Amino acid sequence: MYYRKPYYYSQFQCIAAQCPKTCCEGWEIVIDDKTMQKYNQLPNADKEYVLAHVDTQEGVFKQCGDRCAFLNDRNLCDLYIRLGEDAFCKTCRRYPRHFEEYGNLLEAALSMSCPVAAKMIVTNSKKDRFVEYINNKKSPHCDEVDVVLLAGLLEAREHMIDIVNDRSISLQQRLKRVYQYSYKVQKLIYNYEALGKKVKRPKLVSEFLLKMNLLTKKEVNYELKAADTINKNRQKSMLALLDIMSVLENINSDWPMIMEELKHTLYLDMTNEEYMALSKEFEDYMQDRNYEYEHIVNYFIYTYYLGGVYDYNVHAMTKQALISYAIIRDFGLLAYIKNKKTFTEEEQIRICYTYSRQIEHSDDNLMALEGLLVAHPKLSDENIIRML
Ligand code: SF4
Repeated sequence: MYYRKPYYYSQFQCIAAQCPKTCCEGWEIVIDDKTMQKYNQLPNADKEYVLAHVDTQEGVFKQCGDRCAFLNDRNLCDLYIRLGEDAFCKTCRRYPRHFEEYGNLLEAALSMSCPVAAKMIVTNSKKDRFVEYINNKKSPHCDEVDVVLLAGLLEAREHMIDIVNDRSISLQQRLKRVYQYSYKVQKLIYNYEALGKKVKRPKLVSEFLLKMNLLTKKEVNYELKAADTINKNRQKSMLALLDIMSVLENINSDWPMIMEELKHTLYLDMTNEEYMALSKEFEDYMQDRNYEYEHIVNYFIYTYYLGGVYDYNVHAMTKQALISYAIIRDFGLLAYIKNKKTFTEEEQIRICYTYSRQIEHSDDNLMALEGLLVAHPKLSDENIIRML
């Protein structure tokens, strides 16, 4: 099997009680079947103790308010204290480590919803790179993906991350290039899907891989037509985006309030001229820290783009990465205004893990967002380019 992980992945260490936003609150933790069986086989006193904290009907840990019932007043886990790490369910043992399997390829990542992981992902000025290795194991699921499509997506993703990392041009230019390239890749993939029903496989495969390769090579010489300025409709497009996203499930109880503050301060109570002038000022202020945004965009592209191997909707994943960047950037602008024109790394980390919890801690939200990005008329290509 092939394995890939970000270079910082293995350095993660949970800071438990020192964590500014524990992962043991704000969501229900589902207990996997194997762990539930283990709990049922514990010696009587331990079993009674553990099951008193478990909702056995729903298969989740009970909650006190919105905190896990095992989380004590010192923000430490009583389950861990009493029975050790072996008693953790799969989610608690792994979090914030996240795994995705694509046939014979297993990719690992850290979730940005954890403050320590968010810091590792966002605040390092080095360019993103990945550690890869291979062993003799074979995944039992290796026949479940189209390996040709996967090869094409891997090439496209690598190229997009290279564009994002290209510090010789402005961040806006890079993001627009990523967007345009992704749009063209999506067209190739739809053709590949449609032709797959009509053309013999060997011809289809060679044509697809050749076209992908040509597109990537041509893209290198692609001349940027998009101006390196803030689009005058950015404010309007961002307001529409926030309205569309208000249909998503609230994972953080304070999320609606945070979104309302953003919406009012930047989009409703400010003129377009004021918004554009402040956006420009903030972008200049962040000039030497644009690597934070590189990492945010790369994080979403790395985590979600290959999922298109199952549903062919890769461009929606690029859109997701770029709207996530745009929202996080504008939350940064809001913090900059509120904090007397300063914006610290700590604020950026807080924004990143708050946003990530709202979007990534809910499969329903991820699926709903994908649907909106594919079909909503106000999330058209033109409108998303305007947000960058
Ligand atoms: S959010 Fe991260 S650092 Fe905080 S308690 Fe959970 S795993 Fe540990």
